Amino acid sequence: MLDPDQLAADEPANSADDSRPLGVRKMLDLGAATGRLTHVERLPERQGRRAEWPGWMPIELVTAFGHAGVPAPWTHQAEAAELAWAGENVIMATGTASGKSVGYLAPALTAIMEGATALYLAPTRALAADQLGLVKSLGTGLGAGQGGGHGTGRGATLRAAVVDSDTSFSERASARRHATYLLTTPDMLHYGLLPQHQRWRGFFRRLRFVIVDECHGYSGVFGSHVAQVLRRLRRVAAYHHGSAGGFGGSSPQAVQFILASATISEPAKCAELLTGATASAVTRNGAPRGPMTFGLWEPPLTSTRGVAGAPVRRSAIAEAATLLADLVRDGTPALAFIRSRRGAEAAAAAAKSKLTEAGDDELTHRVAAYRSGYLPEERRQLEDGLRAGTITALAATPALELGVNITGLDAVLIAGWPGTRAALWQQAGRAGRTGRDCAAILIARDDPLDTYLVHHPQALLHRPVEATVLDPTNPYILRPHLCAAAAELPLDDDDLTLFGSAAPGLVAELAERGMLRNRGGRWHLTGLRRAPLASLRGSGGPPVRIVEESTGRLIGTMDEPSAHVLAHAGAVYPHQGDLYLVKSLDLGDSVALVEAGDPGYVTSARELTELTITAEHRRIDWGGAAVHFGEVEVVRQVAAFTRRRPDTGQPIGEEKLDLPSRVLRTRAVWLTIAPEQREELAAAGVDLPGAVHAIEHAAIGLLPLVAACDRWDVGGVSTDSHAQTGMVTIFVYDGHDGGAGFAERGFTAAAQWLRSTSLAISDCECGAGCPSCIQSPKCGNGNEPLSKSGALALLDRMLADAPDPEKGATPAGGESGGRRTARLRGDRAVP
Ligand SMILES: [Zn+2]
Ligand SMILES: [Zn+2]
Repeated sequence: MLDPDQLAADEPANSADDSRPLGVRKMLDLGAATGRLTHVERLPERQGRRAEWPGWMPIELVTAFGHAGVPAPWTHQAEAAELAWAGENVIMATGTASGKSVGYLAPALTAIMEGATALYLAPTRALAADQLGLVKSLGTGLGAGQGGGHGTGRGATLRAAVVDSDTSFSERASARRHATYLLTTPDMLHYGLLPQHQRWRGFFRRLRFVIVDECHGYSGVFGSHVAQVLRRLRRVAAYHHGSAGGFGGSSPQAVQFILASATISEPAKCAELLTGATASAVTRNGAPRGPMTFGLWEPPLTSTRGVAGAPVRRSAIAEAATLLADLVRDGTPALAFIRSRRGAEAAAAAAKSKLTEAGDDELTHRVAAYRSGYLPEERRQLEDGLRAGTITALAATPALELGVNITGLDAVLIAGWPGTRAALWQQAGRAGRTGRDCAAILIARDDPLDTYLVHHPQALLHRPVEATVLDPTNPYILRPHLCAAAAELPLDDDDLTLFGSAAPGLVAELAERGMLRNRGGRWHLTGLRRAPLASLRGSGGPPVRIVEESTGRLIGTMDEPSAHVLAHAGAVYPHQGDLYLVKSLDLGDSVALVEAGDPGYVTSARELTELTITAEHRRIDWGGAAVHFGEVEVVRQVAAFTRRRPDTGQPIGEEKLDLPSRVLRTRAVWLTIAPEQREELAAAGVDLPGAVHAIEHAAIGLLPLVAACDRWDVGGVSTDSHAQTGMVTIFVYDGHDGGAGFAERGFTAAAQWLRSTSLAISDCECGAGCPSCIQSPKCGNGNEPLSKSGALALLDRMLADAPDPEKGATPAGGESGGRRTARLRGDRAVP
């Protein structure tokens, strides 16, 4: 490991033969000189390892790969191909740009040439369209798509087609008749292909391989939905195989899955959660890559004072914008990942104005924003600009991760912890694809988790990435899929096994509600009760369209829960660097009308929350403290919004809103302490309301460390005396109906989670609390009351009798732990 001082000292001597691009070198020098670079790590170049093409591949296919620039497979590609061809389900979990497509295309295209079909699933339409280009270029080598037979029997040709919601009726009809390699999304499979499987029977009858690309993207609620869609697919394929003499009889194993993922922990388990079938994991990456410098970067505290006089750290977005502007000036192609849509817009705008301020007006057109919610034409324009080199700096939301293949970047800036180590390396992997020396920098946001991570690099580096979290047993998710499955084909007992242990109980419940009826031992959907199919993306309901009132132009879309918070009347909404003021939000019509213009302030919604425990499932006692897991009902309402100064976030006025409340039935983890502990802390002068609120914020901030979630996927409620428990209680709940597995992960890893929370708070250099530790940007209560010292005292009490998660070591590990653990007074669990 390099330390920043050493790096700076070495720099002059090495710079002559330093292969790092100019902009990268200057950025690292700046970070070292200012102390913002808290950690630097040099990841060495990796040599590629080639393998032979499998003997079973037709020579035409080997030749086609050769023409496409793949003379021989890398070892992981060959390993995956061999396993798949031998009849196993396979998951390839290797890094970005490791060429996983060769690993699945080799067996899939061979099978197609023998008369089978293959289905390719991508999480986004953009990625499916991108893959079509790849397959078509191979297909040209195979003489595909130029008339000829319809792909029945030996010598069949490769006919690739994308089917998504944009596909016209005639294109769809043509794909049904001719396609042997079909590219689509889980959403289209759910809404289109499976409900109409009889019309697609020619395709399903011959379906052998199902490719699930970028499968690490299927986590949380979306992942849990996709898991059910894949089970429905297995059932439909088995039916068509059985009825028409396909490949594997009538067992649900009739199709084989080849999954491709970023590096994740427990890939085989992830594959099994997603598909319900066991799989072999291929994890040793044989592809080469250039050397990379990876850095952790903490923006400085500013002289500005924020809420309650707390110091304000320069935002990761502002820092990324400045660095982007520098990189543009040095001609170094760079991409900044910004977590929010607004942030991406703001970063691009700020980078442009930095260039203008410095008199580099002519460079501003090289900077652009890119995010989900853009219209396809807008996206395509930006992608073309990047390829052509007219755009060299992009501020993008991580939606890009699941989209197009952008190459040739020398630097990647990650503004804010992307939520998982898997996502971090995925995003970092966007740099240096051409084998050139490159850099990836994680810039800390002003929040507790980021602060913790830039000061504890060992929590980030040299550790396996986290396992995917999804919950195929969530009844809210499973119920509509059981109905959809019953509509596709009546359910029998074997099917219920396929859908898991929760299925029989839910089927009985659906029968009681008159939605399913048993006839001849099989469950049928009753004709009158067909509900519209649920959205896989969690929110339910149609997306809200953002429309410019004066022109009727569609500016973007967002899901309804987001619209309550971001597109309520009076909200300031940014798009492509322009600001819009929301005039009205009509939830009935799912439309928000906006007008362009910068009102000189930003807005944040104020939400009221009430929480009721409906069932407690599990509990762990730590002396008088306890950790609980169970079901809760949360009623939330955006009741008002606050106008804030754009630079400091200080409030300048509040306005009431009249939006309906939303009821969430979900799962939560909650923490309590015994009444005598409460007395003890109160007697010692601890501000309990401030303490629980501070712990709630920081614990939500740190949950992603143990559960692969986003801070925004969970919510919290805290009170120094909850009506039901009668005790000091801190709740953290999944933000989706039925839960998504995150709160449960918090429960199982509670000791590690709360110890890290305590360290993140005590680590922070502020006095009485700031956004880097206990303040929350999503607080519905204006960050009042909060007590930093109270939070530490209360956590100390809670953890006094908790087990040590990594026995013998502090949870943070590492050399600098001593100073901080000393603050855990009397904590006998920590050495
Ligand atoms: Zn702080
Ligand atoms: Zn709060």
